[in-house]
Amino acid sequence: MDALLSKLSEQHMLTADEIIWFLRHLTPDLKKRLYLLASETCKQYYAESVYSRGLIEFSNFCKQDCMYCGLRRSNSLAQRYRLTEEEILECAEEGYQLGYRSFVLQSGEDFRFTEQAMVSIVRNLKRLFPDSAVTLSVGERSEAFYRALYDAGADRYLLRHEAASRQLYESLHPGMSYDNRMNCLRVLKEIGYQVGAGFMVGLPGQTYQHLAEDLLFLQEFHPEMIGIGPFIPHSATPLKEAAGGTVEDTLVMIAMARLMVPDALMPATTAMGTLDPVGREKAIAAGANVVMPILSPLKVRRKYALYEHKICMGDDPAHCRSCIEMRIAVSGYKLELSRGDHCNFPCLS
Ligand code: SAM
Ligand code: SF4
Repeated sequence: MDALLSKLSEQHMLTADEIIWFLRHLTPDLKKRLYLLASETCKQYYAESVYSRGLIEFSNFCKQDCMYCGLRRSNSLAQRYRLTEEEILECAEEGYQLGYRSFVLQSGEDFRFTEQAMVSIVRNLKRLFPDSAVTLSVGERSEAFYRALYDAGADRYLLRHEAASRQLYESLHPGMSYDNRMNCLRVLKEIGYQVGAGFMVGLPGQTYQHLAEDLLFLQEFHPEMIGIGPFIPHSATPLKEAAGGTVEDTLVMIAMARLMVPDALMPATTAMGTLDPVGREKAIAAGANVVMPILSPLKVRRKYALYEHKICMGDDPAHCRSCIEMRIAVSGYKLELSRGDHCNFPCLS
């Protein structure tokens, strides 16, 4: 075990067999050492900084039908909404006034937001807030769309790979293509975006073998951002009876991903905070270094329900900012409000 921990922290790589063996033999004591190594490694790249990204959830319409997600098109109980461009800019303005210089625009796969509409939003964000970074998380689109948005000024793109195992991916994504998802990620990187991949922990049917494939994919693809969170079942989806992921299993994956891709920016997800009041603090102590306070208008927050009982539903952005800042300070870190680029994109910071 010690040899594997050393290999992880020094060479930043393991084989599939080593990962599986490691996961099978983890003890509480080893987990503690793993988390400590992961947080020390993170500090080597980003010191005690935890970066903030103001999250604007601008549409919950989705043409996809992912088995796990409350926004899937077959969920007829979901109350759908779209923000106007003006409302999106207002959310960003409020975040900007609070000091945020990094914004994430996230939605279901809503093609009513055409290339032209998205270009206009991104251009206006960059015009109004030129010292801010803009991240898109709007799913699978064409190469032309990705290029047009990059040219309009978008800096980053989050598209979790969801499952590196083709078989697991296909079982969770009816009508979607594993090859297309992987191709989107490659194209995004080629274009020059800082790219985010990632996956959920605790999906039904997910084995150590699958998790090893996820970690190996991250090791090889080396994304700038890695989002790993627990799967939380939603009662209006086919996976409503599933057990879901645990904070503990997710922490192990966060720490291992940190050691395998040491320079990644990794969020302490809202899903972690939903399962455990100090889940985000635990994620930071296991190697995460990003938080994503929600800037979406209060009137739509509850409707953006990937899963239920999400935290921060009634908290206004000013409250969220002070709450997060306090939690991070108590953990011994500092909330960083700047753009917070990946360390290989330093000229942008
Ligand atoms: N529609 C875009 C996409 O799928 O890439 C972006 C928004 S999507 C809601 C963002 C992420 O939410 C997904 O990549 C997925 O991993 C996560 N997610 C969806 N349903 C979830 C659930 N029930 N529990 C935890 N995370 C979930
Ligand atoms: Fe749509 Fe994204 Fe949810 Fe899949 S995960 S149903 S693409 S919002």
